[in-house]
Amino acid sequence: MPGKLLFDSPDHKVYMFDELTPASAVQSNQFLIVHRGEGVLLDPGGHKVFAKLLSDISSYIPPNNVKYIFLSHQDPDIVASLNGWLMTTGADAFISKLWMRFLPHFGLDSQLEGRLHPIDDKGTIFDLNGCTLYILPAHFLHSPGNFQIYDPVGKVLFSGDLGASLGIDYYEVSDFESHKKYMEFFHRRYIASGKVCKLWARMVRSLDINIIAPQHGAIFKGREMVEKFINWIENLECGVDLLGESNYKVPS
Ligand code: FE
Repeated sequence: MPGKLLFDSPDHKVYMFDELTPASAVQSNQFLIVHRGEGVLLDPGGHKVFAKLLSDISSYIPPNNVKYIFLSHQDPDIVASLNGWLMTTGADAFISKLWMRFLPHFGLDSQLEGRLHPIDDKGTIFDLNGCTLYILPAHFLHSPGNFQIYDPVGKVLFSGDLGASLGIDYYEVSDFESHKKYMEFFHRRYIASGKVCKLWARMVRSLDINIIAPQHGAIFKGREMVEKFINWIENLECGVDLLGESNYKVPS
């Protein structure tokens, strides 16, 4: 069967698809949560992933049982295929209110716009066929209008770009220390500041998490590994923390 099963119970399943990205594009993970036969698709990705992901998902549920599409932020590797997904499913899609009016630039048909819904800055909860899912605020990690999903049944936190790693050939972190080098560049350059990392760490410590699943690279599985990641990000200097006058000079 396609993809990887991250959580399995009779009523509730979580799938990860990590092998669908073409070689020239940044590796991206797509996720599907299924609760009693209905699904939410997370960060479905771009056009090159669309046909393969649609086929893979169909192995588990009919595409029309995808009830929701969650878009953590506005980047092309998240939203570019949205028009196709709204055409092939009856799903409603959710994205930060900051990005609503940007998506028509990706080719979203005007007659489908009514199925795209804004998320307010403070986040929200929603119901997937009897399962409550949490949309957590994660602004500036990295996008200014950015959200993550917490699934309390699978105990999975889908962290979007936070925790991303690039250039690896494994899908689950086994040695945190040696994994750090694959995350450092991305977080220093794409994540806005250490202040927001600290605020995020404080928020997620209140949740019962067994897996942190980023949108790029490997997942962090098990309480110990999750704790290591939260401790690392809490103390990371990144983004504007690292900038000074030398970064803002008129090129000659
Ligand atoms: Fe992004």
